[in-house]
Amino acid sequence: MFSIDKIRADFPILNRKVHGKQLVYLDNGATSQTPQIVIDAIVDYYSNYNANIHRGVHTLSQEATDKYEEARIKIQKHFNAKKSYEIILTSGTTHSINIVASGFSALLNEGDEVIVSALEHHSNIVPWQMLCEKTGAVLRVIPMDEDGSLRMDIYHELLNGKTKLVFCNHVSNALGTINPIEEIIHAAHKFGAYVLIDGAQSCPHIKPDVQELDVDFYVASAHKMCGPTGVGMLYGKEELLKLLPPYQGGGEMIETVTFEQTTYAGLPHKFEAGTPNICGGIAFGVAIDYMNNIGFNAIAMQENELLAYATEELQKVDGLRIYGTSNKTSVISFNLEGIHPYDVGAILDKLGVAVRTGHHCAQPIMDYYKIPGTVRASFSFYNTKEEVDLLVAAVTKAQMMLS
Ligand code: PMP
Repeated sequence: MFSIDKIRADFPILNRKVHGKQLVYLDNGATSQTPQIVIDAIVDYYSNYNANIHRGVHTLSQEATDKYEEARIKIQKHFNAKKSYEIILTSGTTHSINIVASGFSALLNEGDEVIVSALEHHSNIVPWQMLCEKTGAVLRVIPMDEDGSLRMDIYHELLNGKTKLVFCNHVSNALGTINPIEEIIHAAHKFGAYVLIDGAQSCPHIKPDVQELDVDFYVASAHKMCGPTGVGMLYGKEELLKLLPPYQGGGEMIETVTFEQTTYAGLPHKFEAGTPNICGGIAFGVAIDYMNNIGFNAIAMQENELLAYATEELQKVDGLRIYGTSNKTSVISFNLEGIHPYDVGAILDKLGVAVRTGHHCAQPIMDYYKIPGTVRASFSFYNTKEEVDLLVAAVTKAQMMLS
């Protein structure tokens, strides 16, 4: 049974005050809050078995290694990867994308084409631009429509025999649009192109099945799904991870080293050079368990209810425009006519309401709407209708003060 009071009690930060007001945290798209069970796992690691992994014979090192590898298996099960070594633990989505983009620089040729969507976060644009600069490959863009959806008709026209890679987010961070990734993957595969899906914004809301999707690469960050910052994952099909060269050289990623030649370790270690975020990886596993215990159906039900209610209530505010109205997760990106989004955000903060303002690292979307940015309220399963009411009241007040 989904009990909002019980769930909120799991998040100590939700009790805090900001500028003397009760915190209303609606910046979940930037980072989610951390339940006590995840905080406890972090404290437990540093209090009881802090040690480097994979190389120590002593007890602490073995305990840390076991827990870290258990976390990898939790992540594997959650995403339904075939093998645990198809899960590479990284520092986050950005790192995961860079591993793949950098790896393909050895595999692409001049004149090859890669396709990106207009709805991407900068971290799913810039690494591919760098790849194109290095290789002479050409970047093609799937344009967006007024309602924040992708022009899939144009996507199908862009695909051709020269297309080697397609990268797209599952959910847009700026608008919340849920992209038709099944269709994107299926169509790309018909042309022999590989697909990377950026799941940074989908994973807090949707449980993806990488085998059912038949996706080649899927990436996410723990901090958007109740875990800590600085840790994330890269799923890749075994044969593709074997094909890609390592991203960084260093300890942990080798089999043998001499000054004449180094041979690389097998998966997943080939992509995990250096001491990883051990505690973060373990806490990521605990966060995944926490979310699965609540259940992704219950999470979606609560968030969809909040989205519908907040949309209805915000639409009552005169001069408020919502950007992106197609099928989406619990994100509302909006502006008040004639008022800069930053000013709205600053007043909301004084009233205890945390939202994000700006271009949300998705400047092409802002350029499309010809705006400097938006105010973005992003809801999580621990938010309430009362908090939506506080948001709407704060927006109305900001409008009065700034008009
Ligand atoms: N892609 C999307 C869609 C995102 O929302 C974000 C985070 N805002 C990222 C990538 C980058 O994630 P991280 O900063 O955790 O690497």
